[in-house]
Amino acid sequence: MSTPLILLTNDDGIQAPGLRVLAESLAPLGEIQVFAPDRERSAVGHGISLHHPLRVKQVREGWHSVDGTPADCVLLAVRSLLGRRPDLVVSGINMGANLGDDVTYSGTVAGAREGMLLDIPAIAISNVDYAGGHLETSGAAAIAVARFVLEHGLPKETMLNVNVPGIPADAIAGFAVTSMGRRYYDDEIIHRKDPRGRDYYWVGGSAEKHVPVPGTDIHAVAENLVSVTPLQRDYTHHTVMASLAGVSGWTL
Ligand code: MN
Repeated sequence: MSTPLILLTNDDGIQAPGLRVLAESLAPLGEIQVFAPDRERSAVGHGISLHHPLRVKQVREGWHSVDGTPADCVLLAVRSLLGRRPDLVVSGINMGANLGDDVTYSGTVAGAREGMLLDIPAIAISNVDYAGGHLETSGAAAIAVARFVLEHGLPKETMLNVNVPGIPADAIAGFAVTSMGRRYYDDEIIHRKDPRGRDYYWVGGSAEKHVPVPGTDIHAVAENLVSVTPLQRDYTHHTVMASLAGVSGWTL
């Protein structure tokens, strides 16, 4: 087998320390190519840029900065600039958790999801500590999961969402394969006046709440476990689909 090609992206921007730790951690596994946003693009979800041109700047050997989203970075790299298909896409290491419903908003998860959409095995990896404490633990988890995926692959239309507690490696209790939990963001939207007397609103200013249901990603990281959640491409609710198929009252 030729040297694996590993494409890295993130949503914290090309300067982010988590990306550097990820690149250093995965370097022993293959050739690393980085395509990452030129600035922080956290919580952009799976957005892609349709209305402005994308500019790519090589900042050093194998590192490319793109003025787009994480999904743009993966699309551009795989479909145009890399020259050969990567064997693995890894997005992260994000500063802050991507647990439960965060996966909908997360640019980090979207970077990996774009890899999945392109039929490439993909991993998103996040450090639960927003301040980036113990990134080296996330780096060690990244190499363990990436090595497994390079050796064994992933089922089609699947990706892994990995969350690592921001604690020393020797305090980690192990790995847990989990389901996606539920997060509840506080309803409050902060409303203030700017210095010119105009109204503004601040979304996401307050802390999220969650129910730590056993078996979920949220519960696992609270128990000092590395959480590994397989996510699938298909959003269809097949049970509801079957029951809706029996509805006869829909007419125009
Ligand atoms: Mn981020």
